[in-house]
Amino acid sequence: MINLKSIRIAVDFDGTIVEHDYPGIGKEMLFSFQTLKELEKLGARLILWTFRNGKELEEAVEFCRKNGLEFYAVNRNYPEEVFDETISRKIDADIYIDDKNLGGFPGWSEVWQILVPFDLHQQEMEKQIAAARKNSLRRLFGRKDKQNED
Ligand SMILES: [Mg+2]
Repeated sequence: MINLKSIRIAVDFDGTIVEHDYPGIGKEMLFSFQTLKELEKLGARLILWTFRNGKELEEAVEFCRKNGLEFYAVNRNYPEEVFDETISRKIDADIYIDDKNLGGFPGWSEVWQILVPFDLHQQEMEKQIAAARKNSLRRLFGRKDKQNED
């Protein structure tokens, strides 16, 4: 079981968060933002770890921001880090998520299933069921209220 509290996850952009369309920005990969935002809520620190730089990098960061995803750091270990010769180019992360992994990218559903323990899955499912029940009750009573108005 992986403890996600303060774990550092380095995430690639092209082919991982979005479909390959470099230097453009491809369509979102299924569940990428949803999964990353949930991992962040569980305490993970997300580091964007991409080949992009300059304008293309800014566009990628902005695209993620528009989709509700703000990274802890971008192409560095922590926000204030200034790169120099004494620092390794490799980001010091606990987990790397990249479409160029050996074996390829398994997809975001699989990432979620690997990283989030079963009991958290259960809690999440229960929350969704409770929310769905609440919504259907609201809809039901909402309709009744309308009928009463007629
Ligand atoms: Mg890639």
